[in-house]
Amino acid sequence: MDTVSEVRKGGSWLLEDVGPSEVFTPEKLSDEHRLMAQTTDEFIDTEVLPNLDRLETKDWELARTLIRRCGELGLFGTNVPEQYGGLDLDKVSSLIVAEHIARSASFATTYGGQANLCILPIVLFGTEAQKQKYLPKLVAGELVGAYALSESGSGSDALAARTQATREPDGSWTLNGEKMWITNGGFADVIIVFGKVDGEHFTAFIVEKSFPGVSAGKEEHKMGLHGSSTTSIILQDAKVPAENVLGEIGKGHKVALNTLNFGRFKLGGMSVGGCRTAIGDAARYAAQRKQFGHPIAGFGAIKHKLGEMTARTYAMESLIYRTAGLIDAALADTAHDGAAVAGDHADVEAVVLLRVVEQPDHLGHAASLRRLHLQLARFPLRQARRVGHHDRDAAGGVGRNAHRHRLGDLFAAVGPQQHFQIDRRPSFHAGAIHPGSFQRRAARQFAGVDLEVEPFELDALE
Ligand SMILES: Cc1cc2nc3c(=O)[nH]c(=O)nc-3n(C[C@H](O)[C@H](O)[C@H](O)COP(=O)(O)OP(=O)(O)OC[C@H]3O[C@@H](n4cnc5c(N)ncnc54)[C@H](O)[C@@H]3O)c2cc1C
Repeated sequence: MDTVSEVRKGGSWLLEDVGPSEVFTPEKLSDEHRLMAQTTDEFIDTEVLPNLDRLETKDWELARTLIRRCGELGLFGTNVPEQYGGLDLDKVSSLIVAEHIARSASFATTYGGQANLCILPIVLFGTEAQKQKYLPKLVAGELVGAYALSESGSGSDALAARTQATREPDGSWTLNGEKMWITNGGFADVIIVFGKVDGEHFTAFIVEKSFPGVSAGKEEHKMGLHGSSTTSIILQDAKVPAENVLGEIGKGHKVALNTLNFGRFKLGGMSVGGCRTAIGDAARYAAQRKQFGHPIAGFGAIKHKLGEMTARTYAMESLIYRTAGLIDAALADTAHDGAAVAGDHADVEAVVLLRVVEQPDHLGHAASLRRLHLQLARFPLRQARRVGHHDRDAAGGVGRNAHRHRLGDLFAAVGPQQHFQIDRRPSFHAGAIHPGSFQRRAARQFAGVDLEVEPFELDALE
């Protein structure tokens, strides 16, 4: 037995010392992780960004082609078991894909609608027949997926949906209702739809666009994300086979909320990717834009803004990778001692995520991640102390990882404003934090930019 497990109770995670080996950071990414990041970057650079204008004119044939390419590159299969065409990798891998694909926000939305909102609920809650029928084609990008929960009157209050599901004498279902703001709605083939059986029992269904009575409304004119499809999905006496109930009748909230929790976690990764892109764009512009005879990058206020953007992105990155590490450790530990559902990885995953659920919050930015992180940490998670690569990694990076760990904890506990105040405590500088590593990382954000950046001190963030 190579693990020693402890149960964390209450808020003890805030007070107890946790070794750096137990905090996952991007510095611990494996070669496989890095390859995944590189593959995603190359795909975005060569196939998505040059075609952004076409996507923004709603060229959904192109979107389909790009989804197919994602399938070929294995980007949909990170958390899908191999027998359904996936790669069955850890949560960190899927976070990496999310982070790097977000360099194109529009296409990241398309990708997320498929990977996080359609493939994932089938992995977690599908029957064997449903998995065999839908997953291989969704993972290969041959089918496009979507998730239809929201309605005109039910957004945050998702379980207030009015869509009705009526069981027919032959066991099949008839669905009536209208779903709103559905990502990939304009060209999706397979849609996870939520409705109420007998007006009461909230239930998930796998609905194919080709089923009679299913259609998409017109494209929404959004304020942004113009290259992603957002439509209503109209269910007018839509015919759904008996075997297409996803999960249990009356337990649709489990499907809906677990899916959203994972979507939120991945959206956190996408937010980091978006921030990184924004920092690069801002730094490049600040370096080339001149006022009063100087690049504006030389002015204190602009330096301050770039520095603060970098510091906040660093804190968010620390938070999401730590969260990914906690989920992976919890899954590994739970599977190891068989404490939850023996042998079935997907069920174990559902159990872990169920305990993380509190309220749906779709936005997935730092605030919701902070809450996810808090929920995860409150959950009496088995804390695995591994002898293996974690400890070896830690040997070279104790200062750096302790810094990240404390940043993550403080950020999670008190919010970004107080975080920066607390972070300036002298003991922090003298102790766990190694300001040099922070500055090096900040400077790396500007790599390739012709800009003389003075490494900023944390103290400068007042
Ligand atoms: C680009 C885009 C893509 C989308 N894709 C999908 C999709 O694929 N599938 C899908 O099902 N839906 C999708 N949606 C819908 C999205 O999930 C909803 O917008 C979301 O659930 C929030 O609902 P709402 O917009 O109706 O806001 P509301 O629920 O009306 O909330 C409005 C505001 O009130 C706040 N609020 C609500 N309740 C409370 C409370 N109890 N306490 C404090 N504040 C509260 C909210 O935080 C928010 O700031 C998409 C939306 C957009 C913009």
